[in-house]
Amino acid sequence: MKSIKPETIDQLPGIPLKKGDTFNFRCHRGLPCFNQCCRNLNLFLYPYDVLRLRKHLDMDSDRFLETHVDVVMREGNYFPDVLLRMADNESKTCPFLSDAGCTVYPDRPDTCRTFPVEHGMLFSDRPGAHEIVSFYRPPDFCQGRHERQKLTLAQWADDQEAVTHNRMTARWASIKALFQKDPWGPEGLNGAKGKMAFMAAYNIDRFRDFVFQSSFLKRYRVKKARAQKLRASDRELLLFGFEWIRYFVWGIPSKDIRS
Ligand code: SF4
Ligand code: SF4
Repeated sequence: MKSIKPETIDQLPGIPLKKGDTFNFRCHRGLPCFNQCCRNLNLFLYPYDVLRLRKHLDMDSDRFLETHVDVVMREGNYFPDVLLRMADNESKTCPFLSDAGCTVYPDRPDTCRTFPVEHGMLFSDRPGAHEIVSFYRPPDFCQGRHERQKLTLAQWADDQEAVTHNRMTARWASIKALFQKDPWGPEGLNGAKGKMAFMAAYNIDRFRDFVFQSSFLKRYRVKKARAQKLRASDRELLLFGFEWIRYFVWGIPSKDIRS
Protein backbone atom coordinates (compact mmCIF):
# COMPACT_ATOMS: atom_id res chain seq x y z
CA MET A 1 0.00 0.00 0.00
CA LYS A 2 1.55 3.24 -1.18
CA SER A 3 1.61 6.47 0.76
CA ILE A 4 0.00 9.11 -1.43
CA LYS A 5 0.35 12.86 -1.14
CA PRO A 6 -2.79 14.87 -2.01
CA GLU A 7 -0.99 16.82 -4.75
CA THR A 8 -0.12 13.60 -6.65
CA ILE A 9 -3.46 11.78 -6.47
CA ASP A 10 -4.70 13.01 -9.87
CA GLN A 11 -1.58 11.66 -11.56
CA LEU A 12 -2.05 8.08 -10.37
CA PRO A 13 -2.99 5.45 -12.96
CA GLY A 14 -6.27 3.52 -12.77
CA ILE A 15 -9.90 4.40 -12.10
CA PRO A 16 -10.56 5.81 -8.61
CA LEU A 17 -13.21 3.86 -6.72
CA LYS A 18 -15.29 5.18 -3.85
CA LYS A 19 -17.53 3.27 -1.48
CA GLY A 20 -20.50 1.95 -3.46
CA ASP A 21 -18.85 2.34 -6.91
CA THR A 22 -18.83 -0.86 -8.95
CA PHE A 23 -16.32 -2.39 -11.32
CA ASN A 24 -16.51 -5.36 -13.69
CA PHE A 25 -14.40 -8.32 -12.72
CA ARG A 26 -14.34 -12.08 -12.45
CA CYS A 27 -11.29 -14.30 -12.38
CA HIS A 28 -11.50 -18.01 -13.24
CA ARG A 29 -9.51 -20.85 -14.71
CA GLY A 30 -11.29 -20.66 -18.07
CA LEU A 31 -9.62 -17.36 -18.96
CA PRO A 32 -6.59 -17.41 -21.29
CA CYS A 33 -4.69 -15.18 -18.88
CA PHE A 34 -5.03 -17.65 -15.98
CA ASN A 35 -1.95 -17.26 -13.75
CA GLN A 36 -0.29 -14.62 -15.95
CA CYS A 37 -0.60 -12.16 -13.11
CA CYS A 38 1.64 -14.40 -10.96
CA ARG A 39 4.73 -13.75 -13.14
CA ASN A 40 7.06 -10.85 -13.73
CA LEU A 41 5.84 -8.79 -10.83
CA ASN A 42 7.19 -6.88 -7.87
CA LEU A 43 5.17 -8.35 -5.04
CA PHE A 44 5.60 -6.36 -1.85
CA LEU A 45 4.87 -8.33 1.30
CA TYR A 46 3.44 -6.58 4.34
CA PRO A 47 4.04 -7.78 7.90
CA TYR A 48 0.72 -9.67 8.12
CA ASP A 49 1.48 -11.38 4.77
CA VAL A 50 4.77 -12.68 6.13
CA LEU A 51 3.10 -13.86 9.33
CA ARG A 52 0.47 -15.84 7.38
CA LEU A 53 2.78 -17.22 4.71
CA ARG A 54 5.42 -18.47 7.11
CA LYS A 55 2.71 -20.31 9.04
CA HIS A 56 1.23 -21.80 5.88
CA LEU A 57 4.68 -23.04 4.85
CA ASP A 58 5.41 -24.28 8.37
CA MET A 59 8.63 -22.24 8.50
CA ASP A 60 9.85 -19.99 11.26
CA SER A 61 10.15 -16.32 10.35
CA ASP A 62 13.96 -16.42 10.08
CA ARG A 63 13.84 -19.19 7.53
CA PHE A 64 10.98 -17.61 5.61
CA LEU A 65 12.85 -14.30 5.36
CA GLU A 66 16.09 -16.00 4.28
CA THR A 67 14.38 -18.17 1.68
CA HIS A 68 11.67 -15.99 0.25
CA VAL A 69 12.35 -12.28 0.53
CA ASP A 70 14.59 -9.51 -0.70
CA VAL A 71 14.81 -6.48 1.53
CA VAL A 72 14.87 -3.20 -0.40
CA MET A 73 14.88 0.50 0.36
CA ARG A 74 12.52 2.74 -1.58
CA GLU A 75 13.06 6.40 -2.19
CA GLY A 76 11.39 8.72 0.30
CA ASN A 77 11.14 6.24 3.18
CA TYR A 78 13.58 5.26 5.91
CA PHE A 79 12.12 1.82 6.65
CA PRO A 80 12.93 -1.11 4.34
CA ASP A 81 10.34 -2.88 2.23
CA VAL A 82 10.13 -6.61 1.72
CA LEU A 83 9.72 -8.12 -1.75
CA LEU A 84 8.81 -11.73 -2.45
CA ARG A 85 11.81 -13.31 -4.20
CA MET A 86 10.62 -14.64 -7.56
CA ALA A 87 11.87 -17.87 -9.12
CA ASP A 88 15.07 -17.62 -11.11
CA ASN A 89 13.49 -18.51 -14.45
CA GLU A 90 12.69 -16.64 -17.63
CA SER A 91 9.27 -15.41 -16.60
CA LYS A 92 10.22 -14.79 -12.98
CA THR A 93 7.27 -16.76 -11.65
CA CYS A 94 6.04 -16.53 -8.12
CA PRO A 95 7.61 -19.37 -6.11
CA PHE A 96 4.13 -20.38 -4.93
CA LEU A 97 2.67 -20.82 -8.40
CA SER A 98 1.92 -24.31 -9.74
CA ASP A 99 0.16 -25.40 -12.93
CA ALA A 100 -3.00 -25.76 -10.89
CA GLY A 101 -2.73 -22.22 -9.48
CA CYS A 102 -1.63 -20.67 -6.22
CA THR A 103 -0.30 -23.22 -3.70
CA VAL A 104 -0.66 -20.82 -0.76
CA TYR A 105 -4.14 -19.60 -1.71
CA PRO A 106 -5.72 -19.49 1.79
CA ASP A 107 -2.76 -17.41 2.99
CA ARG A 108 -1.89 -15.51 -0.19
CA PRO A 109 -0.66 -11.94 0.30
CA ASP A 110 -2.87 -8.90 0.55
CA THR A 111 -1.85 -7.61 -2.89
CA CYS A 112 -2.96 -10.89 -4.53
CA ARG A 113 -6.33 -10.74 -2.74
CA THR A 114 -6.94 -7.14 -3.67
CA PHE A 115 -5.80 -7.31 -7.32
CA PRO A 116 -6.95 -5.79 -9.71
CA VAL A 117 -7.72 -3.08 -7.15
CA GLU A 118 -4.86 -1.22 -5.48
CA HIS A 119 -5.21 0.61 -2.22
CA GLY A 120 -3.17 3.60 -1.12
CA MET A 121 -3.00 5.72 2.01
CA LEU A 122 -3.74 9.38 1.32
CA PHE A 123 -2.09 11.69 3.84
CA SER A 124 -3.06 15.27 4.45
CA ASP A 125 -0.95 18.03 5.97
CA ARG A 126 -2.76 17.53 9.29
CA PRO A 127 -0.62 15.12 11.38
CA GLY A 128 -2.25 11.70 11.75
CA ALA A 129 -4.99 12.43 9.18
CA HIS A 130 -5.22 9.81 6.50
CA GLU A 131 -7.72 7.91 4.41
CA ILE A 132 -7.63 4.80 2.24
CA VAL A 133 -8.07 5.44 -1.47
CA SER A 134 -8.66 2.70 -4.04
CA PHE A 135 -8.03 2.36 -7.76
CA TYR A 136 -9.18 -0.22 -10.27
CA ARG A 137 -6.08 -1.09 -12.25
CA PRO A 138 -6.22 -4.37 -14.19
CA PRO A 139 -3.25 -4.70 -16.56
CA ASP A 140 -4.01 -5.01 -20.28
CA PHE A 141 -3.49 -8.78 -20.31
CA CYS A 142 -6.07 -9.35 -17.55
CA GLN A 143 -9.25 -10.61 -19.20
CA GLY A 144 -11.25 -10.65 -15.97
CA ARG A 145 -12.14 -7.01 -16.55
CA HIS A 146 -14.36 -7.97 -19.51
CA GLU A 147 -16.55 -10.27 -17.42
CA ARG A 148 -20.09 -9.20 -16.56
CA GLN A 149 -19.91 -9.55 -12.79
CA LYS A 150 -20.12 -6.16 -11.06
CA LEU A 151 -18.64 -5.68 -7.62
CA THR A 152 -18.21 -2.98 -5.04
CA LEU A 153 -14.99 -2.70 -3.04
CA ALA A 154 -16.70 -4.24 -0.03
CA GLN A 155 -18.07 -7.16 -2.06
CA TRP A 156 -14.64 -7.81 -3.58
CA ALA A 157 -12.94 -7.72 -0.17
CA ASP A 158 -15.51 -10.19 1.22
CA ASP A 159 -15.22 -12.44 -1.82
CA GLN A 160 -11.44 -12.61 -1.44
CA GLU A 161 -11.48 -12.86 2.38
CA ALA A 162 -9.33 -9.76 2.31
CA VAL A 163 -10.94 -7.72 5.08
CA THR A 164 -8.45 -8.65 7.82
CA HIS A 165 -5.49 -8.39 5.46
CA ASN A 166 -6.65 -4.96 4.26
CA ARG A 167 -7.04 -3.75 7.85
CA MET A 168 -3.63 -5.04 8.93
CA THR A 169 -1.96 -3.50 5.89
CA ALA A 170 -3.66 -0.17 6.59
CA ARG A 171 -2.42 -0.27 10.20
CA TRP A 172 1.08 -0.95 8.92
CA ALA A 173 0.84 1.82 6.28
CA SER A 174 0.07 4.39 8.98
CA ILE A 175 3.27 3.37 10.80
CA LYS A 176 5.31 3.18 7.62
CA ALA A 177 4.29 6.75 6.87
CA LEU A 178 6.09 7.90 10.01
CA PHE A 179 9.31 6.81 8.34
CA GLN A 180 9.15 9.56 5.78
CA LYS A 181 11.46 11.17 8.36
CA ASP A 182 14.75 9.55 9.37
CA PRO A 183 14.56 8.36 13.01
CA TRP A 184 17.82 6.43 13.05
CA GLY A 185 20.41 9.15 13.59
CA PRO A 186 24.11 8.42 13.10
CA GLU A 187 23.80 4.65 13.67
CA GLY A 188 21.52 4.32 10.63
CA LEU A 189 19.01 1.61 9.89
CA ASN A 190 21.50 -1.17 10.63
CA GLY A 191 21.93 -0.03 14.23
CA ALA A 192 20.24 -1.72 17.17
CA LYS A 193 17.11 0.42 16.92
CA GLY A 194 16.60 -0.29 13.23
CA LYS A 195 17.09 -4.03 13.72
CA MET A 196 14.59 -4.03 16.57
CA ALA A 197 11.96 -2.27 14.46
CA PHE A 198 12.44 -4.64 11.52
CA MET A 199 12.11 -7.62 13.88
CA ALA A 200 8.87 -6.27 15.38
CA ALA A 201 7.38 -5.83 11.91
CA TYR A 202 8.62 -8.82 9.97
CA ASN A 203 10.05 -11.46 12.27
CA ILE A 204 7.18 -12.46 14.54
CA ASP A 205 8.95 -15.54 15.96
CA ARG A 206 12.01 -13.57 17.09
CA PHE A 207 9.75 -10.80 18.38
CA ARG A 208 7.79 -13.32 20.46
CA ASP A 209 11.09 -14.53 21.98
CA PHE A 210 12.03 -10.92 22.67
CA VAL A 211 8.74 -10.18 24.46
CA PHE A 212 8.43 -13.43 26.44
CA GLN A 213 11.97 -14.79 26.81
CA SER A 214 13.98 -11.63 27.50
CA SER A 215 13.69 -9.19 30.40
CA PHE A 216 11.20 -7.15 28.36
CA LEU A 217 8.22 -7.80 30.64
CA LYS A 218 10.32 -6.80 33.66
CA ARG A 219 11.54 -3.58 32.06
CA TYR A 220 8.17 -2.59 30.59
CA ARG A 221 4.81 -2.97 32.20
CA VAL A 222 2.26 -4.46 29.84
CA LYS A 223 -1.31 -4.88 31.07
CA LYS A 224 -1.98 -8.48 32.07
CA ALA A 225 -5.00 -8.91 29.81
CA ARG A 226 -3.00 -7.62 26.85
CA ALA A 227 -0.07 -9.95 27.60
CA GLN A 228 -2.46 -12.91 27.62
CA LYS A 229 -3.79 -11.93 24.21
CA LEU A 230 -0.25 -11.67 22.85
CA ARG A 231 0.54 -15.19 23.97
CA ALA A 232 -2.58 -16.52 22.28
CA SER A 233 -2.49 -14.80 18.91
CA ASP A 234 0.23 -13.98 16.37
CA ARG A 235 -1.96 -11.24 14.93
CA GLU A 236 -2.31 -9.57 18.35
CA LEU A 237 1.45 -9.88 18.79
CA LEU A 238 2.03 -8.19 15.45
CA LEU A 239 -0.31 -5.33 16.40
CA PHE A 240 1.67 -5.02 19.62
CA GLY A 241 4.85 -4.93 17.50
CA PHE A 242 3.40 -1.97 15.56
CA GLU A 243 2.64 -0.23 18.85
CA TRP A 244 6.12 -1.00 20.12
CA ILE A 245 7.68 0.59 17.02
CA ARG A 246 5.62 3.75 17.58
CA TYR A 247 6.65 3.83 21.23
CA PHE A 248 10.27 2.69 20.99
CA VAL A 249 11.32 4.47 17.79
CA TRP A 250 9.10 7.54 17.86
CA GLY A 251 8.27 7.98 21.56
CA ILE A 252 4.52 7.95 20.81
CA PRO A 253 2.70 7.10 24.08
CA SER A 254 1.02 3.72 24.31
CA LYS A 255 -1.89 2.94 26.63
CA ASP A 256 -0.59 -0.57 27.29
CA ILE A 257 3.21 -0.17 27.37
CA ARG A 258 4.83 1.71 30.27
CA SER A 259 8.46 1.83 31.26
S1 SF4 B 1 -4.77 -11.86 -15.19
FE1 SF4 B 1 -6.69 -11.18 -14.20
S2 SF4 B 1 -8.31 -12.57 -14.91
FE2 SF4 B 1 -6.31 -13.47 -15.48
S3 SF4 B 1 -5.87 -14.86 -13.82
FE3 SF4 B 1 -4.91 -12.93 -13.25
S4 SF4 B 1 -6.44 -11.79 -12.07
FE4 SF4 B 1 -7.48 -13.51 -13.07
S1 SF4 C 1 1.07 -15.82 -3.91
FE1 SF4 C 1 -0.32 -17.02 -5.16
S2 SF4 C 1 -1.73 -15.51 -6.03
FE2 SF4 C 1 0.05 -14.39 -5.27
S3 SF4 C 1 1.44 -14.19 -7.00
FE3 SF4 C 1 2.01 -16.04 -5.90
S4 SF4 C 1 0.90 -17.71 -6.88
FE4 SF4 C 1 -0.05 -15.79 -7.51
